[in-house]
Amino acid sequence: MKKFALLLFALITFGVTASPSTPQFDVVTLGARGGIQDGNLTAFLMKASKDNNFVTLDAGTLVNGISVAADQGAFNNITVPEESAYNLIGYVLKERIKGYFISHAHLDHVAGMIIASPDDSFKHIYALPSVNSALAETYFNWVSWPNFSNRGEGFKLNKYTMTDLNTGSWKNVEATTLKVKAFPLSHSGIESTAFLFDSNGHALVYFGDTGPDKVEKSDALNNVWRSIAPYIEEKKLAGIFIEVSFTNSVEDKFLFGHLTPDWLMHELRSLEQLSGGKGSLKGLNIVVSHIKYSMKKGDDPKTVIMQQLEAQNDLGVNFIFPSQGDSFSL
Ligand SMILES: [Zn+2]
Ligand SMILES: [Zn+2]
Repeated sequence: MKKFALLLFALITFGVTASPSTPQFDVVTLGARGGIQDGNLTAFLMKASKDNNFVTLDAGTLVNGISVAADQGAFNNITVPEESAYNLIGYVLKERIKGYFISHAHLDHVAGMIIASPDDSFKHIYALPSVNSALAETYFNWVSWPNFSNRGEGFKLNKYTMTDLNTGSWKNVEATTLKVKAFPLSHSGIESTAFLFDSNGHALVYFGDTGPDKVEKSDALNNVWRSIAPYIEEKKLAGIFIEVSFTNSVEDKFLFGHLTPDWLMHELRSLEQLSGGKGSLKGLNIVVSHIKYSMKKGDDPKTVIMQQLEAQNDLGVNFIFPSQGDSFSL
């Protein structure tokens, strides 16, 4: 017991954890679910702590998420300038969000952005070329919705500048200190994306929907793990945002490009091996997103997923299970 107390003291005092001891990024959860609860679909606001401006990580829910977060005090440190015509929600949307990072074009990742577009300000949509093409073809086509983009069919309203990200090279994110690198992910036949953000040497990685490499017959996740391992070894990775859509009760053939607690732990063990071996992920922040909403009596997938992850957390990672409106720093 004494030994354990001493170890705990050492951990707290010397901050022996994989993630940086001082938070480097601020996050607001706009939407936490992976379907089907409209108004609470996958989206986060994220900024480097020293920046004023946010980007979004996906945009399944936007205005409703800003509104819920504002009610919970997420923007209490933001003062709307007197000369602004907007309330806090409008000011955050139009002035403080400088870009959307869209992992893939599935509706639960873009609905909030599309619905807000008529009243939005000019912004970049940052995505892989296949995702930007899908957005233009599927939504911004004057059939599903007016074309607020600068691509695709018909008259272009040019509100959103679609900015393609290359895999393998850094791109600066306008009006922030962030730079970003994109990695393709395999999501049941669809190309999804992981975004690696770097602000002055500190990093954060956000995964859109993805299946495990083994089930997807892919090496996409392994490729990301190899790229972020050096940050972990230098204690410069603030956190990993990754989906766990289903509990362990779902069979592999019914995953449709998603992860379970078992599969996430399997993948994190690969990352541990690449990052310096046993114990190298201790204290690393893992933000669990995209938990499916259940309409079944007595069913609470979030609680089950939390239990299933913690039950096998011999890696010592720090799981975070955000709810809509939550703010936190990593
Ligand atoms: Zn999704
Ligand atoms: Zn999806």
